[in-house]
Amino acid sequence: MTQNQTSQSTKKISNYLTMIVLIVVALSIISLILAANAYYIGQTLAAGFLALIGIVALAMSAFTLFQSRRQVAQMKIEIPKVMTTVECKCGSKTIREFQRGDYIYKDLDTPCQKCPNTRQMITAIYKEVKEKEKTYNV
Ligand SMILES: [Zn+2]
Repeated sequence: MTQNQTSQSTKKISNYLTMIVLIVVALSIISLILAANAYYIGQTLAAGFLALIGIVALAMSAFTLFQSRRQVAQMKIEIPKVMTTVECKCGSKTIREFQRGDYIYKDLDTPCQKCPNTRQMITAIYKEVKEKEKTYNV
Protein backbone atom coordinates (compact mmCIF):
# COMPACT_ATOMS: atom_id res chain seq x y z
CA MET A 1 0.00 0.00 0.00
CA THR A 2 2.74 2.43 0.99
CA GLN A 3 4.80 1.35 -2.03
CA ASN A 4 2.01 2.38 -4.41
CA GLN A 5 1.60 5.73 -2.67
CA THR A 6 5.30 6.58 -2.94
CA SER A 7 5.49 5.60 -6.61
CA GLN A 8 2.41 7.72 -7.34
CA SER A 9 3.84 10.77 -5.60
CA THR A 10 7.19 10.45 -7.39
CA LYS A 11 5.31 10.14 -10.68
CA LYS A 12 3.41 13.35 -9.87
CA ILE A 13 6.62 15.18 -8.97
CA SER A 14 8.38 14.03 -12.12
CA ASN A 15 5.39 15.07 -14.28
CA TYR A 16 5.40 18.51 -12.66
CA LEU A 17 9.17 18.82 -13.16
CA THR A 18 8.95 17.70 -16.79
CA MET A 19 6.33 20.38 -17.43
CA ILE A 20 8.52 23.13 -15.90
CA VAL A 21 11.56 21.89 -17.79
CA LEU A 22 9.60 21.90 -21.07
CA ILE A 23 8.51 25.51 -20.46
CA VAL A 24 12.09 26.55 -19.67
CA VAL A 25 13.33 24.76 -22.81
CA ALA A 26 10.68 26.54 -24.91
CA LEU A 27 11.66 29.92 -23.42
CA SER A 28 15.36 29.27 -24.00
CA ILE A 29 14.68 28.33 -27.63
CA ILE A 30 12.72 31.57 -28.04
CA SER A 31 15.58 33.59 -26.56
CA LEU A 32 18.04 31.81 -28.88
CA ILE A 33 15.84 32.69 -31.86
CA LEU A 34 15.65 36.30 -30.63
CA ALA A 35 19.44 36.24 -30.22
CA ALA A 36 19.88 35.12 -33.83
CA ASN A 37 17.46 37.81 -34.90
CA ALA A 38 19.29 40.50 -32.89
CA TYR A 39 22.61 39.33 -34.33
CA TYR A 40 21.15 39.54 -37.84
CA ILE A 41 19.98 43.11 -37.18
CA GLY A 42 23.42 44.01 -35.87
CA GLN A 43 22.77 44.30 -32.15
CA THR A 44 25.59 42.00 -31.08
CA LEU A 45 25.41 42.94 -27.39
CA ALA A 46 21.71 42.06 -27.14
CA ALA A 47 22.34 38.92 -29.23
CA GLY A 48 25.09 37.77 -26.88
CA PHE A 49 22.94 38.47 -23.83
CA LEU A 50 19.95 36.56 -25.23
CA ALA A 51 22.16 33.66 -26.34
CA LEU A 52 23.66 33.49 -22.84
CA ILE A 53 20.19 33.36 -21.25
CA GLY A 54 19.13 30.66 -23.67
CA ILE A 55 22.19 28.51 -23.06
CA VAL A 56 22.04 28.89 -19.28
CA ALA A 57 18.32 28.02 -19.24
CA LEU A 58 18.93 24.95 -21.42
CA ALA A 59 21.79 23.80 -19.19
CA MET A 60 19.68 24.32 -16.06
CA SER A 61 16.74 22.34 -17.42
CA ALA A 62 19.04 19.51 -18.53
CA PHE A 63 20.59 19.48 -15.06
CA THR A 64 17.15 19.45 -13.39
CA LEU A 65 16.00 16.53 -15.54
CA PHE A 66 19.20 14.63 -14.78
CA GLN A 67 18.86 15.32 -11.05
CA SER A 68 15.19 14.29 -10.87
CA ARG A 69 15.86 11.05 -12.77
CA ARG A 70 18.60 10.20 -10.29
CA GLN A 71 16.33 10.95 -7.32
CA VAL A 72 13.56 8.71 -8.69
CA ALA A 73 16.09 5.93 -9.24
CA GLN A 74 17.35 6.32 -5.66
CA MET A 75 13.80 6.18 -4.30
CA LYS A 76 13.15 2.96 -6.21
CA ILE A 77 16.23 1.37 -4.67
CA GLU A 78 15.27 2.51 -1.17
CA ILE A 79 11.90 0.73 -1.18
CA PRO A 80 12.60 -2.67 0.36
CA LYS A 81 10.66 -5.70 -0.76
CA VAL A 82 8.68 -7.51 1.89
CA MET A 83 9.04 -11.26 1.58
CA THR A 84 6.94 -14.06 2.99
CA THR A 85 8.33 -17.47 3.86
CA VAL A 86 5.91 -20.34 3.38
CA GLU A 87 6.71 -23.65 5.02
CA CYS A 88 5.16 -27.07 4.80
CA LYS A 89 5.16 -29.81 7.44
CA CYS A 90 7.34 -31.90 5.10
CA GLY A 91 10.05 -29.31 5.41
CA SER A 92 9.84 -27.68 1.99
CA LYS A 93 10.27 -23.94 2.15
CA THR A 94 9.23 -21.36 -0.44
CA ILE A 95 9.83 -17.62 -0.41
CA ARG A 96 7.52 -15.29 -2.28
CA GLU A 97 6.62 -11.61 -2.27
CA PHE A 98 4.34 -10.38 0.50
CA GLN A 99 0.68 -10.40 -0.41
CA ARG A 100 -2.09 -8.45 1.29
CA GLY A 101 -3.56 -10.48 4.12
CA ASP A 102 -0.39 -12.40 4.92
CA TYR A 103 0.36 -12.98 8.58
CA ILE A 104 2.57 -15.36 10.50
CA TYR A 105 1.02 -18.80 11.27
CA LYS A 106 -1.62 -18.27 8.58
CA ASP A 107 -2.72 -21.50 6.93
CA LEU A 108 -2.64 -21.29 3.15
CA ASP A 109 -4.99 -23.03 0.74
CA THR A 110 -2.24 -23.50 -1.85
CA PRO A 111 -0.88 -27.03 -1.45
CA CYS A 112 2.79 -27.94 -1.24
CA GLN A 113 4.47 -29.08 -4.44
CA LYS A 114 5.77 -32.27 -2.80
CA CYS A 115 2.70 -33.28 -0.82
CA PRO A 116 -0.51 -31.91 -2.37
CA ASN A 117 -2.75 -32.87 0.54
CA THR A 118 -0.88 -30.93 3.21
CA ARG A 119 -1.59 -27.31 3.90
CA GLN A 120 1.25 -24.83 3.98
CA MET A 121 1.76 -22.20 6.63
CA ILE A 122 3.41 -18.77 6.68
CA THR A 123 6.35 -18.87 9.08
CA ALA A 124 8.06 -15.56 8.48
CA ILE A 125 7.49 -12.11 7.03
CA TYR A 126 10.49 -9.84 6.63
CA LYS A 127 12.03 -7.03 4.65
CA GLU A 128 14.36 -8.23 1.95
CA VAL A 129 17.98 -7.28 2.59
CA LYS A 130 19.70 -6.02 -0.54
CA GLU A 131 22.75 -7.94 -1.75
CA LYS A 132 24.78 -4.71 -1.76
CA GLU A 133 24.06 -4.02 1.92
CA LYS A 134 25.06 -7.57 2.80
CA THR A 135 28.45 -7.21 1.17
CA TYR A 136 29.03 -3.86 2.91
CA ASN A 137 28.38 -5.44 6.31
CA VAL A 138 30.84 -8.26 5.60
ZN1 LIG B 1 5.00 -30.51 1.80
